[in-house]
Formats: sequence, structure tokens, C-alpha cells
Amino acid sequence: MIIHEEICVGCGRCQPYCPTAAIRYDGIKSRIDQEICYECSTCLRAAHCPVDAIAESPDVYDYPRALRRYFSDPSATHAATGIQGRGTEECKTNDVTRRCGPNQIGVAIEIGRPTLGMSILDIQKITRAIARAGVHKIEPHNPIHSMIANEATGDLKPEMLGERVLSAIIEIQVERHELRGILRTLKEVAKEVDSVFCIDAFTVVGPGLSVPEEVLESIRAEGFTWRPNAKVNMGIGRAWE
Ligand code: SF4
Ligand code: SF4
Repeated sequence: MIIHEEICVGCGRCQPYCPTAAIRYDGIKSRIDQEICYECSTCLRAAHCPVDAIAESPDVYDYPRALRRYFSDPSATHAATGIQGRGTEECKTNDVTRRCGPNQIGVAIEIGRPTLGMSILDIQKITRAIARAGVHKIEPHNPIHSMIANEATGDLKPEMLGERVLSAIIEIQVERHELRGILRTLKEVAKEVDSVFCIDAFTVVGPGLSVPEEVLESIRAEGFTWRPNAKVNMGIGRAWE
């Protein structure tokens, strides 16, 4: 995002709307730090500049800067997946997509929220740690999949590493018995990541809506507190064969 300084009347109204403090107001004019701005469009949508001085950056649709918008602006459709909202539906639509089988665990690592953001370099720290732990496949319908340069190492495409985004979700699948190892890996790499992240573990529940004990044991064993959350797509799911 940019502010046309010749139009800005310095009212300061836009500054509090930026979740990442990219808008710098010196009492006379506001300007936007292009390194920090992750192109979420909140200032454009919500601040209602009285003189329309806020405008899209000329390069906001150019690769690799366009990644900022895809991962940060909730109204943007991600070019790699055609999905809004960080480019993935995760396992929320698993009843229909069947991404994750009954004996597998879908693991989603949600980085950067709320509003803190992070650099794509931080995403790479996690994809590398996952690869070192032996998981070399990012979920194909997840936008991070298209950003991988080397599946064996978890390296992302180098031209992306300088970009900054509000939030991203890395999705993988593991067998139930592998969950504990991945949780341990993520706990370790958290010490290097210059942002926050939470971990989702998706599983197909059994009769009586019970979560498999093996899953709960893995979560407890690594010292995590689990917060159950169910998504039931009544009537649109398909029976498992
Ligand atoms: S709201 Fe508009 S006029 Fe006011 S400081 Fe921001 S850009 Fe300038
Ligand atoms: S687009 Fe978002 S990150 Fe950039 S200046 Fe506006 S509110 Fe801040």
C-alpha cells in the first residue's frame, strides 16, 4: 500500500488501522514503510482517508510481492490455489475432499496470527525442520506446496524469502504414530521462529465422536494443551469406504 504524500493532509486517521505499525505519521504527513507493510488492505478498506490519499502499491500484483497480498488480505484469492483466506480450506472440508484418511493426522501450522505477521524466511525455518523430521510432502492443495524449491530439504524459492505476510498455514499429513515426533520438532523450531504459531491436529473421529486415544497421548506427552474443536458438515460429507 502507498500514501500519496502530495495529497495527504496529515490528519493521522489511518495510522491506528495498521495492524503491523507500517504507517509512519510524523505529525505532518503519513507514509507507509514498504518493507513492513504486508499488503492486508486494512487501511484502504477501513480508515476512510478523507482525501483518498491511500492507494494500492503499483507492484502489489507483481511476483514475488504479490505473495504479501495473497496471505494477508482476506478478500484476495490466492493465485496458487484459487482459495481466499490464506489460500487453503485446511481439513475443514475433509468430509468432501478426503485429504486426510481415518488413520492419518492432518497437521496445520498456523503462523503469524493474530496480526503479528512474519517473514517468509520464518516459514522456511518450519518447512526445513519438517523435512529434517522426514516429512517431505506439503499438502498439494496448500499454497506453501507451490513455494517449495526442494522437497528433500524444505527450502522455499529463494526470491520469496524477503517477503513478509500476515499469516500462513503449512499443512502436512502424518500417520498417527508419527504425530508425537512432529510435535516435538515443531516445539524445537519454535525457538528459532521470529513470530508465533499454533498447531492444529485434524483427525476423523470414531463412533461416539471419540478422539483416538493415541492422538491424545501424543499431544499430552509433548506437553501441549489440547482444545477440541469440531467441524461437522451435515449432509455434504461422503461415507468412508
Ligand atoms: S487518513 Fe489520509 S490524509 Fe489522513 S494521514 Fe492518513 S493518508 Fe493522510
Ligand atoms: S496494507 Fe495493511 S500492512 Fe500495509 S499499511 Fe495498510 S494496514 Fe498496514
